[in-house]
Amino acid sequence: MLQQRTLKSLTKAVGVGLHSGQRVELTLRPAAPDTGIVFRRVDLPQPVDIPISAQAVTDTRLASTISSGGAKVHTVEHLMSACAGLGIDNLYVDITAEEVPILDGSASSFVFLLQSAGIALQAAPKRFIRVLKPVEVREGQGASEKWARLTPYNGYKLGFEIDFDHPAVDSTGQRVEFDMGSGSYSRDIARARTFGFTKDVEMMRANGLALGGGLDNAIVMDDYKVLNTDGLRYNDEFVKHKILDAMGDLHLLGKPLLAAYSAFRSGHALNNKLLRELLSHSDAYEVVTFEDEEKAPQGFAQLARAW
Ligand SMILES: [Zn+2]
Repeated sequence: MLQQRTLKSLTKAVGVGLHSGQRVELTLRPAAPDTGIVFRRVDLPQPVDIPISAQAVTDTRLASTISSGGAKVHTVEHLMSACAGLGIDNLYVDITAEEVPILDGSASSFVFLLQSAGIALQAAPKRFIRVLKPVEVREGQGASEKWARLTPYNGYKLGFEIDFDHPAVDSTGQRVEFDMGSGSYSRDIARARTFGFTKDVEMMRANGLALGGGLDNAIVMDDYKVLNTDGLRYNDEFVKHKILDAMGDLHLLGKPLLAAYSAFRSGHALNNKLLRELLSHSDAYEVVTFEDEEKAPQGFAQLARAW
């Protein structure tokens, strides 16, 4: 049987929120089979649980925010991406503020944390959502056109294309495809950092956003070039970060997908709309488990070996 996964032990991290600039403590704890991933605001007088789901996403401006009963957690996508990449099904995320720490702006710190805690296999079958029919969402026309789509695929792969008219981005790959069956999430995707432009950062700061952002947790560009002295981690780091984000946004579904995702200039809002579109067509998907691990699509059984 292909089993559900959680952590072997708890692990903690301290950092700042990208937008709030607030110091925040994060504790990742093992959770029982079929718990799913549950954020818990432990700083509130009465702790509030926020289980992830497509419907829990209530704001997608700049980052993915989930809420429940008036409590919120912003910027969940990089941690969710690491959980998707390592196949984590069940996890408690205790958090002492409204925003997940940005750490180095990628998912690699979360991958490191999860792997150091150790991954435990659980006595319950891992449940996937298998896409049976194509679903698509679109927005805008011409230069502002964007779309995202899920189609049936025996595995999980993502293709993304960006279209940034900027000298520092033009010279890099603007399209990338990543397949869980043949690629390595930690090596190929997890290290890609978020990025921003100085002129947007100045505007965001004036509006009380990006207060925790800087060269140590983002790729920052002026009108011409990348300002980080160390340069890029991948020559196509920008579009790889969009794949990282999409994996995080899609993991909010609550179960891993068996599908091919493809997108053009998509973002947090459209990714969430795509999940809701899928869920609104009950004939477009089914929940499956694999009694025989050998029959599971490549990249899931061997994924992040439990040790
Ligand atoms: Zn991101």
